[in-house]
Amino acid sequence: MTLTWYRKWRPQSYADVVGQDHVVLSLQRALQKNLIGHAYLFCGPRGVGKTTMARLLAKSVNCLSPINDDRNLPSPCGNCQNCQAFDQGNILDVVEIDAASNRGIDDIRVLREKVHLSPLQGKFKIYIIDEVHMLTKEAFNALLKTLEEPPVHVIMILATTDIGKVPDTIISRCQRFDFHLIPNSVLANYLLSVSKKEKLELTQGGASMLADVASGSGRDALSLLQQVSVNDGILDESIISDQLGFVPPDHVKQMLELAALDEKNKGLMVWKEWFNKGIDPEQSIRFVLRILSDLINLAPSNRDSEILANLTIDQLLGASEEWGWALRQIRFHPEPYLPIAIAFSATVRLWVNSDKNKKSSITQKQIPVVEQKFIAENHKNNETSTLSVVSWKPGDKEQELWSKFIDDIKPRNRTLAAVLQNAQLLEIQNGDQPHLVVGVRFPFHRDRLQEIKNRVILENSLKNLTGVDYQLRCNLVVSAADSGSVRTDLLEATKEIFAA
Ligand SMILES: [Zn+2]
Repeated sequence: MTLTWYRKWRPQSYADVVGQDHVVLSLQRALQKNLIGHAYLFCGPRGVGKTTMARLLAKSVNCLSPINDDRNLPSPCGNCQNCQAFDQGNILDVVEIDAASNRGIDDIRVLREKVHLSPLQGKFKIYIIDEVHMLTKEAFNALLKTLEEPPVHVIMILATTDIGKVPDTIISRCQRFDFHLIPNSVLANYLLSVSKKEKLELTQGGASMLADVASGSGRDALSLLQQVSVNDGILDESIISDQLGFVPPDHVKQMLELAALDEKNKGLMVWKEWFNKGIDPEQSIRFVLRILSDLINLAPSNRDSEILANLTIDQLLGASEEWGWALRQIRFHPEPYLPIAIAFSATVRLWVNSDKNKKSSITQKQIPVVEQKFIAENHKNNETSTLSVVSWKPGDKEQELWSKFIDDIKPRNRTLAAVLQNAQLLEIQNGDQPHLVVGVRFPFHRDRLQEIKNRVILENSLKNLTGVDYQLRCNLVVSAADSGSVRTDLLEATKEIFAA
């Protein structure tokens, strides 16, 4: 059986650790000054190197002749008796405990008895407790006693992916280090260096793609690389996406360009095609989110797509919110295509501004017969629903309040602000029950504004701005300007069902 690459390429020295420089430097400096703690807490997401770092620390404190590395900081020599025993996995002074399967008080009691035994080979005995948050309350209490009075030869290293479940009493006894997701570019470079050693022809694009899929986890990145390494020849994005069943990120970007170009039907057809081909929808959404996040972080002049370059931060954040929603839905949805179609349609709406809408609005004549029929039926329904055609234009004062309101919400909740920007002020009533009516074009916008936590934010802001306890009400509307060419398609109908 071949060794998994995650184990094969596990860092043997601090210089090999990927993407956790802040932790590496702190630990090495402490080693340099001989300030070794008795209890450490490593927290952070899975697969980012917590256990690896714990082992490396164990190796360095027991190394018989530590060397100085390129940064002139201490590192295990790799040659002494202890380092070699460690690398071969024959070290008796390092005990690893998986708290997920040894979570009870008895397991920790055994540990408490054992900690008094002296180390056999090195200076220290190191206990690494992985997933420490899984311990029971009683086990934590027992562990606390050991942490309060640790024998001088003992180092406890606790690792967790869920710091929220570790009691404060434990946290306060430890030196805490927070591990981060490994940035995409760092992970990609790491994959390129491993490929070199494995004699693989991985392209830069292929490396970026694998790093993307691994979403910051070094362990996942290596296991994906191992998976695609069975292919001969060049490993580029198309080979990798074929093998892993993904749509290449640049195709995903083109799909987003369709949204910005107001090509909703084309975009939906593209998704349908991908689905028919059996792509991994969850991964595709992750690519969408990655692209959006890159766009948010880049100034328009640095964005590599001309079509997406002029999107505002609010438009991008609004779209991110929609795709994030789709990602949460898709795992449990009986029809995974629908959350994607809904998110895509919402993106088109958020990105295509009203001026452009007017310019590209389609006359009745141009709408295919099937759609005309649908619209006719829909309009019939509208007469009895809350959908109303709006013609009221707010005065300057009202308009000013509306703008201030949106500005006030923006720093608190960008998504809500984006919804308000797509909505319009319909009415302000100052009587017995002061209220403000907002017109929104989509049910999911209405629902978002009406969520209790959101209403608190919105109504508090109105109170701050006006001194009046306005209640916020929402109506579904079609603006007078585009009511002549309203296109309510099946997807919006679907959305209405899901939003209800
Ligand atoms: Zn050594």
